[in-house]
Amino acid sequence: MQSLNKNIPATFVLFLFVAWSGYAQKKISIVTSLPDLASIAQEVGGDKVEATSIAKGYQDPHFVDAKPSYMISLQKADLFIEMGLDLEIGWVPLLVDGARNPAIQPGGKGFLDASTGVPLLEIPSGDPTKLRAEGDIHVYGNPHYWLDPQRGKVIAKNIFDALVALRPENKDYFKKNLDAFDKKIDEKTAVWIAKLAPLKGTKIIAFHNSWPYLTERFGLQVQAFIEPKPGIPPTPKHLVSLIKLIQEQNIGSIIIEPYYSKKSAEILAEKTNAQIVELATSVGAEKSINSYFDLFDYNVNRLVDALGKSAHH
Ligand SMILES: [Zn+2]
Repeated sequence: MQSLNKNIPATFVLFLFVAWSGYAQKKISIVTSLPDLASIAQEVGGDKVEATSIAKGYQDPHFVDAKPSYMISLQKADLFIEMGLDLEIGWVPLLVDGARNPAIQPGGKGFLDASTGVPLLEIPSGDPTKLRAEGDIHVYGNPHYWLDPQRGKVIAKNIFDALVALRPENKDYFKKNLDAFDKKIDEKTAVWIAKLAPLKGTKIIAFHNSWPYLTERFGLQVQAFIEPKPGIPPTPKHLVSLIKLIQEQNIGSIIIEPYYSKKSAEILAEKTNAQIVELATSVGAEKSINSYFDLFDYNVNRLVDALGKSAHH
């Protein structure tokens, strides 16, 4: 009896030690809606986190299949991050509800809307419910804000805050990573701006309204969209008006996201001198785009090549 009483505390201390070291080493499991968020989360979280994305970079972020297998990865997540602004309204709420993981429900410590505090463009004045009923899918302002690298710093700060709330003991480590991310973004933004400076003011046509943050940052001018409204397919009449516009304004390029049909763009290209330029909207859209930095390297180089060429036409 005596020896058992003595042994209990020793066993208990050993148990505590094992539990504590297991906790200290366990990585924070982060699941994000889009790969851009996973890339930034990995930069800020470093080796203390494991970040994965549900959507692939070549998928339309507005419409992703809410597959049950995604719920399984969400079941074990410590943190879920979405772009917000209803971008993922068609699939994220289904998955987060279906995951039955109280830690990642909206309003909790394990749920992050990355758009918090991001300066938005194109906030409509109308009632969001009414606008959505009319088919518009950008009812709270343009949700493609991650396509400005400077707004990527706001995303990174939001992720930093969420990580500190989950692991306050790692605050200094996360802060060091956040500062390094910001510094690299600033340095690279200057390079990207310089590369695109000769093309400043170039007029382009876009398929979907994915680009206001990118074009504002880098000085390009989207004159019109193939979609008459975000989410609404073009009518023949709309295409005719675009052909006229392209000819009148001598527009050289039509930019398109990887996941849209190129049929309408091809009609425009056939009837005018404009070329089709496919840009990446997310990390992973192309094999070479493995990080948030790669995303801009790719798009900037693509724009310099394509628009530079059409300028010499
Ligand atoms: Zn959109």
